[in-house]
Amino acid sequence: VHEEDNLWEKMRAVLPSPVFYLIEQIGSYGDRECVRVYLVGGLVRDLLLGIPNVDLDVVVEGDGLSFARVLAETFRAKISLHEKFSTATLYLPDGLKVDVATARTEYYEFPAALPVVETGSLKQDLYRRDFTINAMAVGLNQDTRGHLVDFFCGKSDLEQGIIKVLYNLSFVEDPTRIMRGIRFVHRYGFRMEPETKKFALQALEQGLMEKVSFSRLKEEFMLILHEENFALILENLKEMGLWERIFPEWTISEEVIKLLKEIPPTWSWVKEYLAPLDLNLVILLVLCHHCSEMQIRTLNEKFSWSKLYRSALEKISWNKERIFQELATNSLSPSGVFSLIGDLPAEAIVYLILVSDCRQRKVIRNYLEAKKNLFMHISGEDLKCLGVKPGPRMKQLLDRVRKERLDGNLISRADEMTYVKALIQRERGD
Ligand code: ATP
Repeated sequence: VHEEDNLWEKMRAVLPSPVFYLIEQIGSYGDRECVRVYLVGGLVRDLLLGIPNVDLDVVVEGDGLSFARVLAETFRAKISLHEKFSTATLYLPDGLKVDVATARTEYYEFPAALPVVETGSLKQDLYRRDFTINAMAVGLNQDTRGHLVDFFCGKSDLEQGIIKVLYNLSFVEDPTRIMRGIRFVHRYGFRMEPETKKFALQALEQGLMEKVSFSRLKEEFMLILHEENFALILENLKEMGLWERIFPEWTISEEVIKLLKEIPPTWSWVKEYLAPLDLNLVILLVLCHHCSEMQIRTLNEKFSWSKLYRSALEKISWNKERIFQELATNSLSPSGVFSLIGDLPAEAIVYLILVSDCRQRKVIRNYLEAKKNLFMHISGEDLKCLGVKPGPRMKQLLDRVRKERLDGNLISRADEMTYVKALIQRERGD
């Protein structure tokens, strides 16, 4: 092992100290239990890049499950065992999580199937991984502490910024690696090695992605949304022809790509007015830009989104034409905009802003500005004192006051009280 390949001091420098201490402990317990223990995967990759990563993936040459049980007892961790794959996850009281696995080899009975798993060596365990940069390990036992294990030139690929599979059939066995690969390309500003790219395109052409279960596709897709460069990743996968194969309801047109790229700059000013926001939902609304109501329904079924997601996607799909028509009419007051979009989730408003032209955008922005500066003097408590019960009726009354305030027709608390009392009286027919 070259001096530069001993990563122990680098680990001490880059990782948060509780993580480093935990890793040190895991190594000591490896010696005590007479098993070879390694850190593998993303943490090793990021360590070489100098990026802190606290996802601990430990591989054990020996009985990983027994070792995981020992660790769980020592650290008073909750343990969840996945016996079929000889893996365990430990949840430590301080919030850290450790995945422990028995070194294993995998083979696939047919393309895109789940693998059949057998116990193996560290080398076999690293060989079954997705890319060379993710197939490195660091020894944790005393005699190999900090030694980089790099059978497949991962370090060199990392230095050159290359995403490369370990064997030709990698994407045939697991086509979701294509999505992972493009994710890493844009996360680190790397490129896909030409042969790897060729294998990816071949696997797509052979229709292998369509064989993957929907839940795995959804999982990989959601990971993309969490990336800073989500728009570039989605665009790159569009160029490779992925989306029409797996999510045919989405038409990812040039326009959609442009909108996706506009999300981060729009996001940065919109945050001032609308909080809290769920970026994933904004991205989904944009992806559904060309969808019909029928397609939205199908997507909602397939993805089984949360109630919030479903309702935002449906509301936008049903109402967007009408909203745009009205926003385009001149002289829409802030209260008019409130009636139009006041009940929409914040993410749907961001979508509307993205899709609007300059004039419509200005109308929405004026409304947001007025709403932000608006301080309502009266509250539900005041209405209760006037005999209004909490419920939709109370919301309606408060919304009426809010609209008058937005348009500058009411100024003081006294104005608001007089107005709302008059409303209540009129409704009672006094
Ligand atoms: P991230 O930083 O996105 O979490 P990661 O590399 O840590 O990236 P994980 O999904 O946590 O990704 O996986 C941990 C490791 O398991 C990877 O580094 C890789 O070695 C291996 N791995 C994950 N998914 C696959 C896959 N589909 N095929 C082969 N190996 C995989």
